[in-house]
Amino acid sequence: MKREFAVIGLGRFGGSVCRELSEEGMEVLAIDTQESKVNKFRNIASHAVIADATDENVLKELGIRNIDHVIVAIGENIQASILTTLMLKELGINKITVKAQNDYHEKVLNKIGADQVIHPERDMGKKIAHSIISNNILDHLELSDDHSIVEIKASSKLIGKTLVELDIRANYGCNVVAIKPKHSKDINVSPMASEMIREDDVLILIGADKDISRFERQLI
Ligand code: ATP
Ligand code: ATP
Ligand code: CA
Repeated sequence: MKREFAVIGLGRFGGSVCRELSEEGMEVLAIDTQESKVNKFRNIASHAVIADATDENVLKELGIRNIDHVIVAIGENIQASILTTLMLKELGINKITVKAQNDYHEKVLNKIGADQVIHPERDMGKKIAHSIISNNILDHLELSDDHSIVEIKASSKLIGKTLVELDIRANYGCNVVAIKPKHSKDINVSPMASEMIREDDVLILIGADKDISRFERQLI
């Protein structure tokens, strides 16, 4: 069954969300105040309309109440973003995702009941910083302030060794949750202790940041 989405604000971020959802075959209602933005999505989204989302009557006329998940991607105009979120909340939308511009904006959005607040520039910046520090860190997912999941390219110190030889859990307090061979689609989730690391493997490691750093310093 197709799920229904609405994307409000068709800037670079909202536009990208809208395009991707549409390509995945989802029903998307695309909304922006600027005609030029809306025109770009006429052939991409299921419906594309010029409208001001801060106007409650407009939202009602668009039948937004029947939409399951609304993404608010209004950036610079923080007031419009907050007002729109509040209105969507009052209309009883099931799930509201909002892009925050800064930490204060994020705080307000959480207070008024946004289900998910995202911060793409900040989060992408963190990821890039980690991959700049180490060429072998391919991706970084922050689980909490001090725990992460990282994708690490196997180094020469790892290749040809098994997990039990390296004794990763005991020595580094981290767990290898999966091993991905570079040139194959099969990913080995929950590898056994006897699993050997091969050239071009990518390890997915979960642990405390300080433990992951120690692992990187000594084995990468
Ligand atoms: P990005 O970085 O994703 O390109 P941004 O964070 O710079 O975007 P803006 O460009 O300020 O954010 O806003 C994104 C879009 O939201 C714009 O296309 C803008 O026209 C639209 N927008 C702003 N206010 C409203 C509103 N009240 N209703 C609908 N759309 C709006
Ligand atoms: P432990 O008491 O450390 O849990 P175990 O009884 O589960 O070990 P094995 O599964 O044989 O014993 O693993 C032996 C050692 O191999 C573990 O202590 C650990 O250091 C390492 N190891 C095995 N699998 C992993 C993994 N997925 N990630 C990290 N280390 C692993
Ligand atoms: Ca921006």
